[in-house]
Amino acid sequence: MVLDELVDYCQRLYEDLDFRSVQAWKAAQPGRKAIGYMPIYVPREIIHATGMLPVGLMGGDMEIIRGDAYYQSYICHIPRSTIELGVSGRLDMLDGVIFPSICDVIRNLSGMWKLMFKDKYSKYLDLPQNFMPNVGGDFYVDELRSMAGDLQALSGVEVTNARLLESIRLYNRNRALVNALYDLRAAEPWRVPTVELYLLLRAGNVLPVEEHTELLQTYRALLDTAQRPQLDNSRIVLTGAFCEQPPLGLIRTIERAGCYIVEDDFVLGSRWIQGPVAETGDALANLVSAYLERSVANASVYIADKPKGESLVKACRHRCGEGVIFCAASFCDPALLDQPMLAHAVEAAGIPYTEFKYSENTGQFQVIKEQTGTFSDSLKLWGTT
Ligand code: SF4
Repeated sequence: MVLDELVDYCQRLYEDLDFRSVQAWKAAQPGRKAIGYMPIYVPREIIHATGMLPVGLMGGDMEIIRGDAYYQSYICHIPRSTIELGVSGRLDMLDGVIFPSICDVIRNLSGMWKLMFKDKYSKYLDLPQNFMPNVGGDFYVDELRSMAGDLQALSGVEVTNARLLESIRLYNRNRALVNALYDLRAAEPWRVPTVELYLLLRAGNVLPVEEHTELLQTYRALLDTAQRPQLDNSRIVLTGAFCEQPPLGLIRTIERAGCYIVEDDFVLGSRWIQGPVAETGDALANLVSAYLERSVANASVYIADKPKGESLVKACRHRCGEGVIFCAASFCDPALLDQPMLAHAVEAAGIPYTEFKYSENTGQFQVIKEQTGTFSDSLKLWGTT
C-alpha cells in the first residue's frame, strides 16, 4: 500500500455514514456485536474484552431531515446528526450505545435514545468529577462494573481479568502509536499533515483496535518514504474541538492558510489517558486509577487544584506552539464556558490567540481561511512576546 492509498482508505471510512466496515465486520462471523459510544471518553477496553466492536460515533456532515425536530436551535449540531443517523436506520447495526457524561446535551440524548430505541442497549456512563480514589474512584469502579455486567450479558462473554488486561495491552499499544505520531508531527509537522493524522484517528472509530494499530504502523513506515517540503508555516495549538468535530475541509483550510497544527484535541477519547494503563493486577482498578490520575485536561472535567489554562499553556510550550486557535463547536457549553479562562491564561503567558466557531456541517471556509491566514502571518511578522 502506498501512502495516498492508505489516506484514501481512511477518508472512505470517514465519509461512510452507513458504517459499511462495521456491517462487514459483523457479517464476517455470526453472533458478532457492535457497541457505539459518543465522545469524548469511554473505556473501550471493556467493550473489546467482551469480543464486541467499539464504534466511535461523531455525528457527521449530512442533511438533517428529522434530527432538527428533536432539538431547540441554540445547541450544538452533533446530537441532531446522531439522531438523524439513528432514525434513518444507519445505526441499526449497533447493538447498543454508550453515552459518557460530558455535558447536558449528551445526557439528554441518552434519555431520548432510551425512549426511541427501546429494544437496544443504552447506557449513560457517569464519569466521576471527584478524583479522590475513595470517593470518585469507588463510584467509578461500581459504574464500570455495572457497565461490564451489562456488556457481558449482551455478548455472552465474561469480562475476565485476563481478557480485560489483554484489551488494555492492545489499547496501550494503539495509544502509544498515536502519541508517537503526535510527537513526530510536533517535531516535523511538514511530514505529518493534520488532515492525515485526523483521518487516521477517525479510522480508529470504526476499525477493530488490532487492525487500527496495524494501520498506524503502516502509516508511520510509509512516512519515511514520503518527500514533503518544509514550509514557512506558523506553529499552532488548536483547542476546543474535542466533541463535535469540525469538517475535514476546515482542518485542511487551516493548514493551507499557513498553519502547522502541532497540538490539537480532535478525537480526544483516543488519547484521553496519558501514558499506558497498568497491564498487570486488577484490570478494572487499573482503568479507574488511569482515569483518576492521568486524564487529559479538558473542559468536561472538573479541575479543583490547578488554574484553568495551565495545561494549555504547558502544551503550547511543550510543542513550541507560536499561537493558539480556539476552535469550538457553536453552542458547545463546555468549550465556550472555558474559553475566556483559557484565553486569559494564554494571554498572560504572552501567547497570541484567535478564535472562531464551527459546526460539523459548516460549508464555507473562506472567512476562516482569511482569519487563520492573517493570524499565521502576524505570528511570522511579530512572533510571540
Ligand atoms: S459539542 Fe459540546 S455541547 Fe455539544 S454535545 Fe459535545 S460537549 Fe456537549
